[in-house]
Amino acid sequence: MKKEDIFKALGLNSKDLSQGTRIVRSPIDGSELGRVRDHSPTDIPFMIHKATQSFKDWCLVPAPKRGELIRLYGEELRAHKEALATLITLENGKILEESRGEVQEMIDMCDFAVGLSRQLYGLTIASERPSHRMMETWHPLGPVGVISPFNFPVAVWCWNFALALVCGNPVLWKPSEKTPLTALAAASLFERAAARVSYAPPSLLQLVMGGRDLGKILVDSPYLPLISATGSTTMGKAVATSVAARLGRSLLELSGNNGMILTPSANLDLAIRAIVFSALGTTGQRCTTLRRLIVHASLYDQIVERLKKVYTHVISGNPLDPKTHMGPLLERESFDDMQEALHHAQEEGGKVFGGERLLQEVYPQAYYVRPALVEISVQTDIVHQETFAPLLYVIPYQRFEEAIQLHNDVSQGLSSCVFTNDVREAEIFLSNCGSDCGIANVNIGPSGAEIGGAFGGEKETGGGREAGSDAWKNYMRRATNTVNYSDTLPLAQGIRFEVEESNR
Ligand code: NAD
Repeated sequence: MKKEDIFKALGLNSKDLSQGTRIVRSPIDGSELGRVRDHSPTDIPFMIHKATQSFKDWCLVPAPKRGELIRLYGEELRAHKEALATLITLENGKILEESRGEVQEMIDMCDFAVGLSRQLYGLTIASERPSHRMMETWHPLGPVGVISPFNFPVAVWCWNFALALVCGNPVLWKPSEKTPLTALAAASLFERAAARVSYAPPSLLQLVMGGRDLGKILVDSPYLPLISATGSTTMGKAVATSVAARLGRSLLELSGNNGMILTPSANLDLAIRAIVFSALGTTGQRCTTLRRLIVHASLYDQIVERLKKVYTHVISGNPLDPKTHMGPLLERESFDDMQEALHHAQEEGGKVFGGERLLQEVYPQAYYVRPALVEISVQTDIVHQETFAPLLYVIPYQRFEEAIQLHNDVSQGLSSCVFTNDVREAEIFLSNCGSDCGIANVNIGPSGAEIGGAFGGEKETGGGREAGSDAWKNYMRRATNTVNYSDTLPLAQGIRFEVEESNR
């Protein structure tokens, strides 16, 4: 598909996209994709006001009707899956198959939210007082600020948006300044869906185009009861502090440093496939990318040899080509970070395989690399950091307890897995003595979660949970209601408190 055809299919006006000051380049070859307009900081209070007005109408629409709008959005996404996926690949550089997966994740999320729109239920709780009923009710929260990263430019937003909307809240979305076109396209498809119903108020979704300074205005606004922010831990710490200072609610999805423990009983063929997809998928630029492989010493040499062999067969290249396994890194800075990490690892005693720049003659403005393996006997400083690139540390262990200790000895806590056919090891890994992450898998890599489960991690990953399970509760406020249908007024805890009314 040609760029102009993709823009047209997604409702983007090529002329509008040539007049802004922010130049958007494709990581594939450095070519210009468009020029988008950033908002001015003075626009944002007005947009927040519009979201507040929109909330007044939208929170009164019955939840299943709100779900119907999300169902229509899912239809738009289904109809334009290929165009949107191609745009993701052009702008972000992930292989087309993974971009299709990203749009499918949005569709799945819409389906989930539609069902949820009839299930926003609370508990009924036994009251200690006779002829009383106690219950929980859930109410829309207010306009939600969503800040999203470049690596999943639309899926992460959609986890938030689909739930926020069925829960009765408009959304102000500050996408990554590195992937603005994909965001404009996702918003344009939503406008089409909104035009198909009579009850959608204006400004249900507003895009805040620009950099972190604009994100910060959302974060500081007392009119946005919830800020959902996905990105680096550095960003999360800044957001959390500012939102806490105004006693707002933040929902944080931050950096990962995900590990796999590979044990002697594991099916090694399965493990190798899982390692390769988890370490190289999205060119190592997933929050759930496998970064630490903790291998039993008896398997170590064999596994390293097998991985080196597979790594030499990995095709790095144009992500639009169906034969390609790994597209380019996002930008020069990503490449520099990777080289710096490899350099540090070497200084700290690591043995490096791969990591060099590829295809420089064909694409001088793009950053293709061979994926890197680093054999390292201890978890040094660099191993504790998330380097957002296809760089896998391989670390030996002797005892399973030692492997778990190594695994948990990092500040991040997103995703984790063990490959084992020993039921005891599997159960220990999933128990409270095992992985300390928000996601813990057995015989599945750490990367590529389904939307049905709650997604998120502990420690410096931020503690948030999004997408499935009961993550919707983040986007609503809970009220506890007690109704007295007796003709007496008993107090809780049996407290007796009688005051005579005078003059009676
Ligand atoms: P980033 O932190 O550089 O930027 C993310 C977003 O935050 C952008 O929209 C940016 O403009 C905004 N931002 C940055 N600083 C801000 C501030 N002080 N106030 C308000 N907004 C601010 O991250 P990135 O490079 O786009 O994405 C990669 C990072 O995201 C990695 O660390 C990755 O692990 C993480 N990530 C986490 C998850 C998860 O679910 N845990 C998912 C995807 C990505």
